[in-house]
Amino acid sequence: MAKIAIIGSGISGLTAANLLKDYADITVFEKAQSVSGRMSTRRAEPYFFDYGAQYFTARTGPFKKFIQPLVNSGVIERWNARYVKFDSDKITERKAWGDADNEPRYVGVPSMNIIAKHLAMNLDVKLNTRIVTLRHVGKWQLFSEQSLLYDGFDWVISTAPSHQTADLLPIEFQYHNEIKDVQMQACISLMLGFSEPLHLEFDAAHITNSDLSWLAVNSNKPGRSGPYTLLVHSSEKYAEEHLDADRDEVLKHLCYETSRIIGCDVSGSEYKMIHSWLYANNVDRTKCPVFFDQGMQLGACGDWCLGGRVEGAYTAAYNLVEKIKESVL
Ligand SMILES: Cc1cc2nc3c(=O)[nH]c(=O)nc-3n(C[C@H](O)[C@H](O)[C@H](O)COP(=O)(O)OP(=O)(O)OC[C@H]3O[C@@H](n4cnc5c(N)ncnc54)[C@H](O)[C@@H]3O)c2cc1C
Repeated sequence: MAKIAIIGSGISGLTAANLLKDYADITVFEKAQSVSGRMSTRRAEPYFFDYGAQYFTARTGPFKKFIQPLVNSGVIERWNARYVKFDSDKITERKAWGDADNEPRYVGVPSMNIIAKHLAMNLDVKLNTRIVTLRHVGKWQLFSEQSLLYDGFDWVISTAPSHQTADLLPIEFQYHNEIKDVQMQACISLMLGFSEPLHLEFDAAHITNSDLSWLAVNSNKPGRSGPYTLLVHSSEKYAEEHLDADRDEVLKHLCYETSRIIGCDVSGSEYKMIHSWLYANNVDRTKCPVFFDQGMQLGACGDWCLGGRVEGAYTAAYNLVEKIKESVL
């Protein structure tokens, strides 16, 4: 059986691992202490925050087929949020996502990271293992940050964000320059935990003309049992300009802007924290080559291939695996 190393345990890496596990011996390497990447959930008991991906849509056949058993088993539920659009602090549109004419929006239950945890069951995932170097000596060798050697891989697939993938894979990789050119944008998440609910008249909001882009009542998503929480995302522009700024100042500003938009002072919240995502999202695109280099026995995929979304991350992995199966397995 071929031996394949997959770098990254976000939706893309875990999808590739699951689709390949009956054909090859798979090892997944993850630098973080748990799986899920940008679909992570922050635990700050008694508060919980989905501080990366907020929800996802399912528009393509393979992804719809993939989520159906998870919907059937309750791991994924439809989020019938009361949705609004803000233009600065004015509400310009209201919708009920639960209405029949609205596209379904899905979330993991009771948290976003449950989906990755579910996918990681029965896989060999090496956590806390950042891969820093690849070397080809007959087969692929991977070296971790702790200088541990993982040896004997026929294939390596990187699902790290585009720039990290370009740094990791050798420059001889057929698609190296193309991947290096894929720009990703930053985002700063603000997490607020309250002892008392705020009684807002919406659960989810997109925001324009503000340093914020998104606000959700995290605790109102399906299956959340903890106390009241708000999850706010900055705009990309604000994040790009403030990645190196003083964190207390950023926290203060995002709290101020949240209070201004929703018309309710959030400065008294019991829990306040920010998280900066260097590579949150990327420019939307619906087509891209499958990054599969048969000669070098290297592949790469991730949301940055197709639209910077959960479904894009899944689809990019699905397309790569189809190509590998058709060509070599
Ligand atoms: C703030 C924010 C909000 C978002 N909102 C939405 C949304 O509402 N809807 C939606 O559909 N999508 C949303 N997204 C995008 C969505 O989260 C991503 O598209 C998707 O989770 C990407 O999955 P992935 O597997 O491609 O990458 P990732 O989830 O980033 O997985 C890559 C993994 O590789 C690991 N890794 C990287 N380098 C190494 C290394 N050298 N060694 C070992 N491991 C490594 C990382 O730790 C990570 O776990 C959002 C993202 C962010 C950050």
